[in-house]
Amino acid sequence: MADPTPTPGIHHVTCIAGDPQENLDFWVETLGLRLVKRSINQDDAGTYHFFYADTEGTPGTSMTFFPWGDMTRGTVGSGQVSRTAFRVPEGSLDYWEGRFDEHGVDYDDRVERFGSGVRSASENASGEAPRAETVLPFRDPDGLPVELVAVETPDDDPVDPWTEFVPAERAIRGFHSVTLRVTDPRPSEELLATMGFERVGTERSRGDTPGDERTRFAAEGPVGKYVDVIPTVEAGRQGRGTVHHVAFRTPTDEDQESMRRAVRREGLRPTQQIDRHWFRSVYFREHGGVLFELATTDPGYTTDEPPDDLGGRLVLPGKFEDRREEIEAGLADVTVPRAETAEADD
Ligand code: ZN
Repeated sequence: MADPTPTPGIHHVTCIAGDPQENLDFWVETLGLRLVKRSINQDDAGTYHFFYADTEGTPGTSMTFFPWGDMTRGTVGSGQVSRTAFRVPEGSLDYWEGRFDEHGVDYDDRVERFGSGVRSASENASGEAPRAETVLPFRDPDGLPVELVAVETPDDDPVDPWTEFVPAERAIRGFHSVTLRVTDPRPSEELLATMGFERVGTERSRGDTPGDERTRFAAEGPVGKYVDVIPTVEAGRQGRGTVHHVAFRTPTDEDQESMRRAVRREGLRPTQQIDRHWFRSVYFREHGGVLFELATTDPGYTTDEPPDDLGGRLVLPGKFEDRREEIEAGLADVTVPRAETAEADD
């Protein structure tokens, strides 16, 4: 049986939030991402679905939220993506700490990862050792654990950062990694290998609970390149401030179908392909209970709005358009933050 086309990395991460306006203010104004799509939860039309990304909504940059206002706070634990990390240019963490102080963001001391104390994995065929990196952990208003990781960005970096609130040389440049917490890492790690991730090293983490062991897997990247796995006993509970699922890139339908078949051979139960309007998706729960998605590149976020107008209006996928009036009436009024220098032209 042919191996599936390796995934180049993360496509998007979807999370659960509380108040929609608070979520917009934080992710657009404080973190400086662009609202590239304002839509609804396709399984619950009374709830928004916000997509925050770079200027064009490049695959590997979009963090999305279902703001369920009355949802209780979740617990981060096994069976979940416990942290989502974003790339920022090297040398920009001072800027971010200053910005977090100004905006009253709840952040922790910086953490060094994969410096000393790394056991490089012998399975690493390419000889790529994990690079030492500095991490700035923080939480969004719902308590969602997020990190900024300082990285050297390549000259041909595919991310085009949005600069309305944060200058380009400091701005977030898509995903760095997600951390998975599972009770038994081995089957999850085997699945990651099947998907095309290569084990690059293990370290005793100092940024999380003492004694945690963090094993890193790398895809081609450079965006959304890493998945870290940490064995964890305490079960997570879904709710506000937790990740709902992580999607990986399967650029074409053929890539997706070959990955879907490989996932089935591992004894998992992927769905059929589902049309999600901006990409086509397959979902499955991996062995450790984390909800995974495979998402195509096409058609992308510019399929229904021109690049300049992304996020400007409520977009309703096909079948929901007939119910626009009723759906709009059921959604809370929100205002997308705009920088004072940006003259409103609409
Ligand atoms: Zn998704």
